[in-house]
Amino acid sequence: MTDSFEAKGKRKKLVAELRQKGIVDEEVLRAIDTVPRHLFMDPAFLVHAYADKAFPISSGQTISQPYTVAVQSSLLRVKKRDKILEIGTGSGYQAAVLAEMGAKVYTIERFRELFLKAQSTLASLGYTADFFYGDGYEGKPQYGPFDGIIITAAAPEVPTAILQQLKTGGRLVVPIGTASSQVMTVVEKTGPESFEYSDHGNFIFVPMLKGIVNSK
Ligand code: SAH
Repeated sequence: MTDSFEAKGKRKKLVAELRQKGIVDEEVLRAIDTVPRHLFMDPAFLVHAYADKAFPISSGQTISQPYTVAVQSSLLRVKKRDKILEIGTGSGYQAAVLAEMGAKVYTIERFRELFLKAQSTLASLGYTADFFYGDGYEGKPQYGPFDGIIITAAAPEVPTAILQQLKTGGRLVVPIGTASSQVMTVVEKTGPESFEYSDHGNFIFVPMLKGIVNSK
């Protein structure tokens, strides 16, 4: 499947909707306007791809709602060539949005099936990212420190090992809370040992779980 006029038109409407919902970062909006979200989902779901909704992918996981992708991408304050670590590759859509914004993306997924699929989806669209099959709780210290870290699954608390992998001035964006509701949290590393926390609204994600799943 390829991009189409119809899909491009739907993306324009989606971007207008995201503006109305308060997204102001023009680079984020441009990336969402550019990345063909329908190609990260089952081809039968074009009608759903550009609704502002989360949607099931395989392995019982979901592609995040576009609004959520826009909020997390904005909170990261991505600059071109920033090194960004994503935990929870899922479909690879968020990784593609960050790559479109000019970031150097490292992304980790605990389901082997999703890791393989996202890798081939991004390659077919011409996006470059480094994919890892593993448990994101460990982060990727050997590739750090990072300008930004984004966790796209719900964590019960801030994973401290991951904080160590931020550069000073870097930001971790992570939904923190219970299975039913999380608060979007930004942790900014303001000095070698100092961190500032801020809250950015309620969201619902699938849980961040330990270990890996090799079902395929
Ligand atoms: N960013 C994704 C949304 C993925 S949903 C997208 O754009 O489509 C969250 C993903 O996090 C799921 O695929 C889930 O398997 C993964 N995940 C949960 N816990 C994880 C962990 N400890 N390490 C790596 N991935 C994890």
